[in-house]
Amino acid sequence: MALGAHSPEKVILETRRRCAGTTSPFTELISGFLVDGDMLPNSYGKQDCSLARALEIVGERWTLLVLRDAFYGVRRFNDFLAHLDLPRTVLSNRLRSLIEHGLLVKIPDAGHSGRWLYELTDEGMALWPALYALRSWGERQSGRQPRMFTHDACDTPLDATGRCETCGGPTGAQSDLRVTAG
Ligand SMILES: [Zn+2]
Repeated sequence: MALGAHSPEKVILETRRRCAGTTSPFTELISGFLVDGDMLPNSYGKQDCSLARALEIVGERWTLLVLRDAFYGVRRFNDFLAHLDLPRTVLSNRLRSLIEHGLLVKIPDAGHSGRWLYELTDEGMALWPALYALRSWGERQSGRQPRMFTHDACDTPLDATGRCETCGGPTGAQSDLRVTAG
């Protein structure tokens, strides 16, 4: 199949041709993206970048939505499953990864023997401003009518960073957030 004039494949192949036999920071950077068959690797392991590090942890499909539900107060496996409507195995993998990276913690569910509750750690809670900003950005991209988030306990709208100006929250899962059309 012919490659388009500016397709990523053509750019990479052309870069390889021009850089053949030379070494430079640029060729090392490019080679960091390439594996056999010019396939892009499925991890950012060679990227010395804080954003890449963050994406290693939360960049997989569904992960941010699992965290979003955790922020909205979802704690049980079956509730995540019902809200997100994703394959059980995928949810299980995402929860395990978030626990391994210290964003969630698993504690016994006192109301259901043998079951677990998934709760945000302080490190997980630290993602709220980023998640809130990404949500706001997505809202603008979709052209949807903006929604206003209000901290119910304080009756205070969240600011642009997702914080309640009255109490400085969130300080836990936000089952007490009120969402209204802006
Ligand atoms: Zn508040």
